[in-house]
Amino acid sequence: MTLQIYISGKYYDKEHAKISVYDHGLLYGDGVFEGMRSYHGKVFRLKEHLDRLWDSARSIWLTIPITPEQMATAVNETLAKNNIRDGYIRLIVTRGSGTLGLDPNKCPVPEVIIITDHIQLYPKEFYDNGLKIVTAATVRNHTAALSPRIKSLNYLNNILAKIEGLRAGCVEALMLNTQGEVAECTGDNIFLVKGGVLFTPPIDAGILEGITRNAVIELAEKAGITVRQIPLSRHDVYIADEVFLTGSAAEVIPVVEIDSRIIGEGKPGPMTKSLTAKFHQLTRE
Ligand code: PMP
Repeated sequence: MTLQIYISGKYYDKEHAKISVYDHGLLYGDGVFEGMRSYHGKVFRLKEHLDRLWDSARSIWLTIPITPEQMATAVNETLAKNNIRDGYIRLIVTRGSGTLGLDPNKCPVPEVIIITDHIQLYPKEFYDNGLKIVTAATVRNHTAALSPRIKSLNYLNNILAKIEGLRAGCVEALMLNTQGEVAECTGDNIFLVKGGVLFTPPIDAGILEGITRNAVIELAEKAGITVRQIPLSRHDVYIADEVFLTGSAAEVIPVVEIDSRIIGEGKPGPMTKSLTAKFHQLTRE
C-alpha cells in the first residue's frame, strides 16, 4: 500500500504529497518539526514532543493552526491509516506559502505535515560494537543566533557537521559550542560515564533538550546513578570510561572511538548496556 501523508487535514499518496515551492519552509527553513517513534502502537512521549513543537513554534512567532489534541488525533490517525504500529513519525509545521521575500506576514496559512514510515535503523553492529565519531569543525549555532532548543527546519548547521563526519567515515559527529564546550551530536545528545557517574552537557550548553535524553536521565536516577549536567570539554570525552548518544531514532547507541582516541576499553560499557536495556523496557512495556 502506498504511504498516506497528512497535509493540513487531508491525506495524499506519498507521490502526490506536495507543497508549494513558495513555502517558506523550503525557501528559508522557516518552520519547526519533531521526530518521534511509535512502539507497539503507542507514540513514545507524544505529549513531550507536542510541547516541544509548540514551544519551538512560539519562539519563532509561528501559530500552529490546530490544537495539540487535534495534532495528537491526526498523528494516531496517520499511523492507523498506514498500518504502522512500530515506526517513525515526522511532524512538520512550515510558515506556509508566501512570496519570495522574507516577510512571514505574506504566508497566511502554515502547513501541517505528518509523515509516518518504517524506522530506518542504524545497522545492528553499531549497537553491538559502538560507533566511531569525530569532532566537527562546524560549531553548534550560538544560542543568541538560533537557539538549538528550537527544533527548526533550519538544520544546515547540523548538516554541515554531519557532512564532516561522513567525509571522515563516521555516521555522527560531535559538535562543540562557541565556548569550545561539548554540545551534542548532529542528531543526538551525548552522555559520558566517568567513575560510575553519568555526565551530560546542560541545556544552556546550547543543545536540543532531547526527549530520549530526559528519559535516560530519569532511568539513571531511578537506578541510583548520580547524573551531573555540567559543562564538558573534549578532554572529558576522551578520558571517559564510556560514551553513548541518545535520540528518538537511534535510541541509545554506544560510542567507542572519538577523534582517533579509544574510549574506555573500546567496546560498549556496562552502564551503556544497562541503560540501553532499561530504555528498551520503558519503550516496549
Ligand atoms: N539533538 C539534535 C540536534 C537532534 O536533532 C535530536 C533528534 N531530534 C536530538 C538531539 C535528540 O532528541 P530526541 O531524543 O528528542 O529525539
